[in-house]
Amino acid sequence: MSSPAAHAQPLKTVAHKFGGTSVADATRYRHVADLLLAREEDQQITVVSAMKGVTDALIDLAGRAAGNLEDWRERWHELRARHRGAAVALLGEHSGPTVEWLDAQFDMLAEVLQALSVIGELPREVLERVQGLGEVYSARLLGDHLRSRGEDCAVLDAREVLVVDRNDLGVDVDWELSAQRLRQWRAANPARRVVVTGFVARDRGNRITTLGRNGSDYSGAIFAALFDAVELHIWTDVDGVLSADPRVVPEAVQLESLSYDEACELAYFGAKVVHPQTMSPAIERGLPIIIRNTFQPDHPGTRITARRDTSGPVKGLTLSPDLAVLNLEGTGLIGVPGTAERVFAALRDARVSVVMISQGSSEHSICCVVKSADAVRGRAALLTAFAHELSIAQIQRVQLTDGVSVLAAVGDGMAGMPGVAARLFESLGRARVNILAIAQGSSERNISVAIASSDATKALRAAHAGFWLSPQTFAVGVIGPGNVGRALLEQLRAAQPQLLAKANVDLRLRAIASSRRMLLAERSIEGDWKVPFEQASQALDLDRFTEHLLASHLPHTVIVDCSASPAVADRYAQWLAAGIHVVTPNKQAGAGPLARYQAITEAAAASGARFRYEATVGAGLPVINTLRDLVDTGDVVTSIEGIFSGTLAWLFNKFDGSVPFSELVAQARAMGYTEPDPREDLSGTDVARKLVILAREIGRTLSLEEVQVESLVPEGLRQASVEDFMARLGQVDAVFAKRLSDARASGNVLRYVGRLHEGGASVGLVELPADHAFARLRLTDNIVQFNTRRYCANPLIVQGPGAGPEVTAAGVFADLLRVAAGQGARL
Ligand code: ASP
Ligand code: MG
Repeated sequence: MSSPAAHAQPLKTVAHKFGGTSVADATRYRHVADLLLAREEDQQITVVSAMKGVTDALIDLAGRAAGNLEDWRERWHELRARHRGAAVALLGEHSGPTVEWLDAQFDMLAEVLQALSVIGELPREVLERVQGLGEVYSARLLGDHLRSRGEDCAVLDAREVLVVDRNDLGVDVDWELSAQRLRQWRAANPARRVVVTGFVARDRGNRITTLGRNGSDYSGAIFAALFDAVELHIWTDVDGVLSADPRVVPEAVQLESLSYDEACELAYFGAKVVHPQTMSPAIERGLPIIIRNTFQPDHPGTRITARRDTSGPVKGLTLSPDLAVLNLEGTGLIGVPGTAERVFAALRDARVSVVMISQGSSEHSICCVVKSADAVRGRAALLTAFAHELSIAQIQRVQLTDGVSVLAAVGDGMAGMPGVAARLFESLGRARVNILAIAQGSSERNISVAIASSDATKALRAAHAGFWLSPQTFAVGVIGPGNVGRALLEQLRAAQPQLLAKANVDLRLRAIASSRRMLLAERSIEGDWKVPFEQASQALDLDRFTEHLLASHLPHTVIVDCSASPAVADRYAQWLAAGIHVVTPNKQAGAGPLARYQAITEAAAASGARFRYEATVGAGLPVINTLRDLVDTGDVVTSIEGIFSGTLAWLFNKFDGSVPFSELVAQARAMGYTEPDPREDLSGTDVARKLVILAREIGRTLSLEEVQVESLVPEGLRQASVEDFMARLGQVDAVFAKRLSDARASGNVLRYVGRLHEGGASVGLVELPADHAFARLRLTDNIVQFNTRRYCANPLIVQGPGAGPEVTAAGVFADLLRVAAGQGARL
């Protein structure tokens, strides 16, 4: 034990600091004591704040006394009672001496207050003395409690040792004098545990002072340094430093570690981290600061050290509100030295602090971000300073844009790493956030952008997701919960957890609408949607529906239209123009009036929002995507042919003469292969619509009326009721039987085919050789054959089940995920 090495081993000293919420009442003090006693440290230094709210109460008391408000006595009683109560609760039968001490302290306070009420004013010095008393009481309470539990503990009143110099830039510690006084104190008080008052100190004139509001963190760092601690633990009410303000970004993550520099940058831009000044004594000594939660003592918290871990690249994002942009613009600035200096001198003289600066290298304008409250003064100062240049039009204007916030991305990992700014701007661009000004210091530890405050929430969320700090979040609205819509909602719900876990995509269902009603959810519709939807009392209002989706300030919005309504399709252009993505199996837009279709595609092109409709042709089959790939890679499509109707496919696959055609239609209807009115299938219009969609996809301006359609519904039955139609369909059996036998005679089969070629588009019943690809289909399969310049000898064929709610919904879902991927989701 007495080996020299063991002897040389320095004692391990750890400093802790507890804020007001951690010592709000007796229970919390006890909890703090438990927490301290559970730690094995050779020496333990604990800096405490006043009990929660006490500093404010003391300042208020002093103000009331000086203002001669009679009720100061009442409040003084309350404050004393609160402390006495805590002492009794903490110390029980041993509380006598502590209560006596408190009483004496409060008597002294009453004397000061009484004096204030006599002189009727509140000198700065007196306020300083009074506002720091909470810490004096608090330290004593914790110290006495620890002693009552048998601990070797001394209470250090920082006013006895800590000497500081308060000046314009803050508070400087007189390290030498403070260390000397501490040595003396320590000689008389060698206890293993020391409880220290936060916040208070003395100035060089030996007057009592404080370190400024929230100064106890600084006290923590100062005493950690003075006691030569190896670590400083700052105990608060959160798990540590978060990647963003959780009130704005609920997905904000807790950061395990930060460098001092990162912490300073984050703190500067308003993140809930310790103040940079607080850290300076720790930074100078390389002392790790650990921010941790009193309420979760097992949580490791956030470690702030000198170490740079560049994994990020971005650690955290902050938002500073209530700013304004001042922009000085003019041709006279170009190449003129000293302009920037004059700008800043003018602002300095007007006491306007500049938050951010940006100047383009053309030197045509200089832009500063300042506090909103200073903006008008700042502008006036610039107008005065440049009055001459303005009068001779060397400077054109000094613009003020209010309602600005600055979003800052912070991380050591950004330095020297290309693409970080791109990622930030991309996320903001996709979320349609306009950037007013940009700044990046050459430390490359911080990129700041000025944006409109109305975009701030959305921007922070988009950037947070853009750096993979939180999921890519989409506000999703579904219209038309029919067969397909319902299947989609189920698929969406089932896939949700996996999308979130694996791909970090959050498709947040926020609204469902049918032609009659709509359900708008505050956050998202989770679990079963049917019951709440049926109970929803709001009538359909697409304006409200849209507003609701946009109001969530999520970075992206998608509307999925599973209706068959032309009225909904009428909205697409407007939605797309507003940046809302549209995904749909509804054929109205693709096959409807050409003007509407063009407006839709133009709106999408202009805004960058996506319009996706894979499921309009071939349900879940990749028909449109295949076609797009062909076109995008420069192939030229010469013709498209196919069987686009599952109903008609089934009918002619089956039709071999053994059963009359009308009977097959009845069977198909019974099995649900047809629409309730089978004429919708037999008329061929649906197939014609699909051809129009495909034609437009390859750049043709085809309209439905231009497609030659052979309807299988006889003239005489077109107006009849469904029942009547079914009953009388037998009258066509002979015609179909004849067409079948004719085909067979030449070794052919009958198929209902849609064709699109140079000459135009047609839909109808045709004879095909028995070995043709279309002749060997199964059940309700669809088939599409693309003949192109590249696929000329042998066509490209897409084939498979082309109908049914499940596969159609899957096609819609795939489109939705493509939209997500297009917005940067890693799928
Ligand atoms: N009690 C002081 C204040 O409220 C110091 C602190 O708690 O940090 O400002
Ligand atoms: Mg059909």
